[in-house]
Amino acid sequence: MSTRPSSPPKLNILNTPVHAVTMADTLALVEQYMVEPRLHQICTTNPEFVMMAQQDADFRRVLHKADLCLPDGVGLLWAARWLGRPLPQRVPGSELVYHLAERAAQHGWRLFLLGAAPGVAEQAAHILTARYPGLIIAGTYAGSPAAAENDEIVQRINDGRADLLYAAYGAPRQDKWIARNRGNLTAVRVALGIGGALDFITGKSARAPRWVQNLGLEWLHRLIKEPWRWRRMTALPRFAARVLLGGRRTPDL
Ligand code: UDP
Repeated sequence: MSTRPSSPPKLNILNTPVHAVTMADTLALVEQYMVEPRLHQICTTNPEFVMMAQQDADFRRVLHKADLCLPDGVGLLWAARWLGRPLPQRVPGSELVYHLAERAAQHGWRLFLLGAAPGVAEQAAHILTARYPGLIIAGTYAGSPAAAENDEIVQRINDGRADLLYAAYGAPRQDKWIARNRGNLTAVRVALGIGGALDFITGKSARAPRWVQNLGLEWLHRLIKEPWRWRRMTALPRFAARVLLGGRRTPDL
């Protein structure tokens, strides 16, 4: 019997891939990825990613080559519904990091936490190991996605024999970092860009209350809490306009 993971259904929204998966599908896929000896890249796609990919061919290539582009961002759900191919649910990276840490503790996958401000990854590691007894932390390191640090970071991850890597450098840097090191990371089987998730785990930034998330307004909460992001957040109305102007064309599957 083949253990090769089946490819989940994929939509192209403004020529950017988004996989039609649930959180449960994602966890099942990761379990399959873990038995296949190569690095699988997961991206937590949202409308900001899609708009960045319009301008940045390198990032676009990374997204197209990724094994899984999760629908993280309610704007993608709106767009998919408008395009006539509704996505089953939102799969937020900020929730996946907990579910995967739990699975890592159960299966003995060694987790490496890369990125965020100095000290944040260490603190997140303490919180996760307290929450999921048995979780093995392969290492933590803030570092930077700059080329000058690349080899040292790869060495640390390889020395830690990490199976699972969370990279928190924000998009697109974290995703490009993973893509460019696919061939250098010897043991990692699953690597995902997690944006500000380590800041959420440590309480450095707060996620929106559940009812705000349920209304699909988490982006608005983040804008109010971190108003300096407004320039980046113009991506959301630009994304909506592009999708609406594009008409109700069924996205390619
Ligand atoms: N970050 C970092 N090094 C950098 C740039 C960013 O470690 O050179 C970290 C930052 O501390 C934060 C994370 O990247 O923890 C995500 O940043 P941001 O909130 O901008 O990303 P988003 O969640 O919007 O993708």
